[in-house]
Amino acid sequence: MNFETFNFHPSVMAGVRALGYVTPTPIQLQSIPPAMQGRDVLGLAQTGTGKTAAFALPILHRLQQGKRGILRALVVSPTRELAEQTCEAFSTLGRATGLRAVSIYGGVGKDQQIRKLRAGAEIAVGCPGRLLDHIWQGDMDLSHLEVLVIDEADRMFDMGFLPDIKNILQCILQPKQTLLFSATMPDDIRRLVKEILQNPVTVQIGHTAPVATVSHALYPVKQHLKTALLMELLYQTKTDSVLVFARTKHRVERLSEQLHKAGHRVASLQGNLSQQRRQSALERFRSGDVKILVATDIAARGIDVSGISHVINYDIPESVDAYTHRIGRTGRVDETGEAFTFVTGEDNTLVRDIEKVLKKPLERRTLQGFDYEVPSSAKEIRHSSPMILKAKFRRQGIGKKYRFDMSRSS
Ligand code: AMP
Repeated sequence: MNFETFNFHPSVMAGVRALGYVTPTPIQLQSIPPAMQGRDVLGLAQTGTGKTAAFALPILHRLQQGKRGILRALVVSPTRELAEQTCEAFSTLGRATGLRAVSIYGGVGKDQQIRKLRAGAEIAVGCPGRLLDHIWQGDMDLSHLEVLVIDEADRMFDMGFLPDIKNILQCILQPKQTLLFSATMPDDIRRLVKEILQNPVTVQIGHTAPVATVSHALYPVKQHLKTALLMELLYQTKTDSVLVFARTKHRVERLSEQLHKAGHRVASLQGNLSQQRRQSALERFRSGDVKILVATDIAARGIDVSGISHVINYDIPESVDAYTHRIGRTGRVDETGEAFTFVTGEDNTLVRDIEKVLKKPLERRTLQGFDYEVPSSAKEIRHSSPMILKAKFRRQGIGKKYRFDMSRSS
């Protein structure tokens, strides 16, 4: 099965070729045909399955016919990063179509967004809050909307966007087609689906289990040894790009600073950073300028960086779903990846839940040569901790000198 079978407009096919897609992914195989027939689609697919193209391609194909210079498709996304990425996917896949896409989210000025809307963008991809701003201020005309996509609906519920979404829906005079994507199906989503989708085709790709191309392992460790363990793990493991998740903004900043001081090329991504700094962190990670990105969960969705070899949960995520989404950042489509999760005694319940979803026990690993018994009173989390310094100097190839100096000073 290849993309020719869908009979896309030649200019849409040009986009498929430009991105080098050869074989449709399962979600694409199942949702593109009904979407092209104008049916409503409920797509239950986890991240990294190719779901963006599953809705973008039929939309581009549809908009290829009909009037230009008016807004005809709207995609609602939970995060700025995802909105930006989806907009980019439309622009790349649709390059030969001449259709224009605009991204709409807060944290950046409105003027450029308004200019693009007025210039006649046919596709808008945005986050609920800023979309409503534009709609209520009359900058966005939804009266010609043909297709509405609600992407990562479960995530939007988690983030408390339900009222905003309902407000947006009220401003839309029944679009001709609605596509809703969600990795999970909690009751709230089920109710929304009933209200807004008409006789939808349901496409389910796997359950909420993480992508199969990822191998998982747990590293039991005491809380105070996590940083040292991470350093040692980075030293001992052959990695390409590494995405590290920590629980809070503060922990992200502290950890990335410690990694930086230990000689790693690292950037951080968390909600307190300006949009520009977030964008720049992502760009540096994407381009390979930095090999490690330390992030809070805002990055778990929406980051589409190919070649992430390792996801390391410095802190275990809050739920099984959050685990799935984090892990979905590696092993995307045909790639394979490894997911390491640091666990303390307090994480046992969640570990059992994750294992239930995976339907198998997770491998527990210990890192050879790592001292798991350093007491917390040793304050080894400081940058000057012997273990962290050891990692730093080893990276710089001066391990021997370090040991020599230490023995002299002690
Ligand atoms: P998504 O789940 O939409 O975030 O897509 C994950 C990644 O898979 C993105 O980098 C896409 O460009 C890529 N992708 C989507 N469809 C295909 C395909 N049919 N073949 C290869 N890569 C794809």
